[in-house]
Amino acid sequence: MSKLKIAIQKKGRLSEKSLQLLEECGIKFPNGGGKLVATSTNFPIEILFLRDDDIPQYVEQQVADIGIVGENVLIESQKKIKPVQQLGFSSCRLSLAVPKETNYTDLSYFNGKKVATSYPNILSDYFQKNNIEATIEIISGSVEIAPGIGLANAICDIVSSGSTLFSNGLKEVEKIFSSQAILIASQNLDLEKQSLLNKLLFRINAVRKAKENKYILLNAPNNCLEKITQILPGVNSPTILPLAQKGWSSLHSVISEDKFWDIIDELREAGAEGILVVPIEKFIA
Ligand code: ATP
Ligand code: MG
Repeated sequence: MSKLKIAIQKKGRLSEKSLQLLEECGIKFPNGGGKLVATSTNFPIEILFLRDDDIPQYVEQQVADIGIVGENVLIESQKKIKPVQQLGFSSCRLSLAVPKETNYTDLSYFNGKKVATSYPNILSDYFQKNNIEATIEIISGSVEIAPGIGLANAICDIVSSGSTLFSNGLKEVEKIFSSQAILIASQNLDLEKQSLLNKLLFRINAVRKAKENKYILLNAPNNCLEKITQILPGVNSPTILPLAQKGWSSLHSVISEDKFWDIIDELREAGAEGILVVPIEKFIA
């Protein structure tokens, strides 16, 4: 029986979350110890630990069948691979930044300027679409020091909190696009591997859905139940069980966490008491 080969980042901002996702999907593997390949003990999958920049190429060449990278790396790579599923972690954005004392008004500022980046493909595309003529200085790391050392007038790089920009005397002026981790796959998976990928995707979706939702339990007098049920945007109709105390019931449902905070006051006004909100481990709708 063949194994699905997944490439994940060996060390960096995607590594821990990628491994955690596999673990939450119930996939066990001996813990690395610096190894470059690990085989799961309970799912036909092999993990290859690589530099994130190399992952799109490995997947295109089918050295790996699937992989996890940032969308920024996927798009920059221009490889022929399939984006399969956004994973909701390692969110960041690719932005343009200039020295903070710059009197920046709009994109035309970049005409005739030099911009340092590790994302030449995305950036030249962006400039072209916006009719900007600028010189792109390709560097592979520590991009944010480029203006300070006179290598460029501006930079285009990944930003999350903006603190790295700030500490290097830069300010973010344009957002090019938002990125998050994404599961990618080869365009030529055979049937067996495609079916393994489908199994993995089923688990990934169950884990992600569980994270977005909470199990809610509350007690209420029976005459308040109808109103409370209307407030609750449940998956199905809620479960209602009688309490030992006469005239009272316990109501159970599933709710997305952000919605919960919106309706908590309404629930209490409608007569709900003893409200419990508990995490869900897996959610198969
Ligand atoms: P490698 O050695 O594997 O090439 P790297 O230095 O290129 O690693 P990391 O800094 O570990 O890459 O970032 C990996 C990915 O995580 C980025 O491509 C991006 O998608 C995402 N990322 C980068 N910076 C942040 C951040 N500050 N917060 C969240 N996600 C980020
Ligand atoms: Mg990299």
